[in-house]
Amino acid sequence: MSQNIDSFFTLIQRIKAVNGLPQVLEALWDGDSNGWYLVLNLYYKRRTWWFKEIIQPYFSKARLGIISCGGDIRLFSDTVPPWPEATLAKELGQLAKDKYDLEFYFPSEEPDDDCPAWDQQHLAIACADCSKLIIPTDSPYLPKDICYNCHLNRSSTADCGEAAPITHHLFGTGHYKYKEESYAQAQARYSGFSEDLFSRLEGNFPGFISNLRFFQSQDYQLEDMWAIYEDAAIQFGIQLDPDTPVIVLWNANPENHIEIGDWSEDASGDAIRFIEEEFFAKGPSQSLPPAWWY
Ligand SMILES: [Zn+2]
Repeated sequence: MSQNIDSFFTLIQRIKAVNGLPQVLEALWDGDSNGWYLVLNLYYKRRTWWFKEIIQPYFSKARLGIISCGGDIRLFSDTVPPWPEATLAKELGQLAKDKYDLEFYFPSEEPDDDCPAWDQQHLAIACADCSKLIIPTDSPYLPKDICYNCHLNRSSTADCGEAAPITHHLFGTGHYKYKEESYAQAQARYSGFSEDLFSRLEGNFPGFISNLRFFQSQDYQLEDMWAIYEDAAIQFGIQLDPDTPVIVLWNANPENHIEIGDWSEDASGDAIRFIEEEFFAKGPSQSLPPAWWY
């Protein structure tokens, strides 16, 4: 059965199947290696039919389906924004509001998976720049008071004047300046050697890309793609250089620095194996920076 909700008729069918009193229709962004989509959830109150209708005082939640109009390939052909998923969600939300007298909760019209669910709003803060509700990030490297999109906007605005240098212990002593960019931006400008690496990594380790931050150097090797992987325990860097050409992998342990060039029959495959064996399998002790890095 297709999960996709592409018409008000389908939405009504899904709401009917829940068989409760609709209270809130929620649309939240989620993404996978194929791109962004919207998840539609319904908050409702149950009816119980013993002697008479009793409506339960608390909310239950049901997933109705998703709105998905195509993968992130659209980013490169300038068809977004506006995101067609957002346009359709707003239309369906308005129709559902009229029919069921419910609240339509849609916190972000642009893709963002840091927005709170309707029942998590008390945990959220308003982005200092665009006032969108967000759950504050737990990344130690990102500002906590603004959303990721505003963070990217601030970094690119800063380029016009003296760019605020991005510092990260995996970039060493900070001689070079980096600008942060989104995965889509990085992919759109990079082509050539091992350009399939990141999609293959995502295939091998689902969720991989969501733990990456992407950068472009402002001083040298401007065409290179730089990415830092960071979760709570494991951190390492990936550099793609189309000219040498080479994939560079490293973490805070100087022994774990490897370059894989076109002498390899499958450079991306070798890189994936190295990441699996040296960074993931050996775990945190190998990948956290020694004290002298700070
Ligand atoms: Zn914002």
